[in-house]
Amino acid sequence: MDLIIARRDDLIVLTQDLIRIPTLNPPGRNYREVCDYLAARLAASGFTVELIRAQGALADSDRYPRWNLLARHTGARAGDCVHFNSHHDVVEVGHGWTVDPFGGELRDGRIYGRGACDMKGGLATSIIAAEAFIAAHPDYAGAIEISATADEESGGYGGVAYLAERGYFSPDRVQHVIIPEPLNKDRICLGHRGVWWAEIETHGRIAHGSMPFLGDSAIRHMGAVLEEMERYLYPLLATKHTTMPVVPEGARQSTLNINSIHGGEAEQETGYTGLPAPCVADRCRIILDRRFLIEEDIAEVKSEVTTMLERIRAERPNFTYEIKDLFEVQPTMTDRDAPVVKTVQAAIEKVLSTQAQFVVSPGTYDQKHIDRIGKLHNCIAYGPGILELAHQPDEWIGVDDMIDSAKVMALTLQELLA
Ligand SMILES: [Zn+2]
Repeated sequence: MDLIIARRDDLIVLTQDLIRIPTLNPPGRNYREVCDYLAARLAASGFTVELIRAQGALADSDRYPRWNLLARHTGARAGDCVHFNSHHDVVEVGHGWTVDPFGGELRDGRIYGRGACDMKGGLATSIIAAEAFIAAHPDYAGAIEISATADEESGGYGGVAYLAERGYFSPDRVQHVIIPEPLNKDRICLGHRGVWWAEIETHGRIAHGSMPFLGDSAIRHMGAVLEEMERYLYPLLATKHTTMPVVPEGARQSTLNINSIHGGEAEQETGYTGLPAPCVADRCRIILDRRFLIEEDIAEVKSEVTTMLERIRAERPNFTYEIKDLFEVQPTMTDRDAPVVKTVQAAIEKVLSTQAQFVVSPGTYDQKHIDRIGKLHNCIAYGPGILELAHQPDEWIGVDDMIDSAKVMALTLQELLA
């Protein structure tokens, strides 16, 4: 553990350097730069490094290529492989910052910047833990992998999904996966809820706004849909509870958000000073964001909505609609007895002298691809940082928390590989 404490300054500089490469997604800036930086660092520590472009993946282009880094260090004897996977992309900055979002400023034991906690701090922590472990146990058994992958914030298709499809997460190559997302240093995240996004469109007929009876309002038809959701769907979802330990607790039931609604004339550009034109809306669209539980079946989740729409169609004159699937992810939850879970749990308890908590994420992250495509179920998210700070202005990560997490990760490596 002294080897971790001795690397404190190194950990700080590494985290700052990573924050100072603005890997904004969208559109996917500086992916090659961050991978080159990490490749040089890890090659110097004895890792074999591979730069992998997700050629042809969603959002990959010559202007914004989707670069990934995979580094592998092989021990002295045969054994398991422990893989730390971090995404290197960060979300847009947004408003309200009081520090430079890409400055990596260190103040009062905190490092500030976009991606500090989500999740360049976690990435740096896993690198320091691996380097310290290798220095202490040069004769260890097995292998350690560190990956820095693209596009987690936009679905992970040019990142973990691409690597998983090419066998990088197959169980004969990798046995344990830790994703250092910011879940707090004493919590183990076992998985996430499922997702279904869909677009519903109602149809109408355009006419002059002074004679709406000559047209048919798609917005009023959508109003009927929203009313039925309030009357029937939301109360139904509120009765569906899960045994998954989702945090925050409000997410321990099925949830539905209407992400957007668009109908009628498009909004005018800012600066336009005229009045809008009077028309009956001939199209209205909403985007549904349904999050579902491990106890639910996705076919049933979809049929709740289509049954409701069919009921409206049977009762409401001239009601027609279309529904389109946009995106879906199955829920996933690693078994509490899985080797990586038990090992990290014991390490948390030893390092922090506190009970490890098990949690499940309300939203998804790259575990979905490792689980579904890689067929590797011995996977968790564990890393330093406060989840609520992710995607916020003045995002930061505590240096002490990173040190504690690095100790947990190094102890985990020791248990699994030494
Ligand atoms: Zn993240």
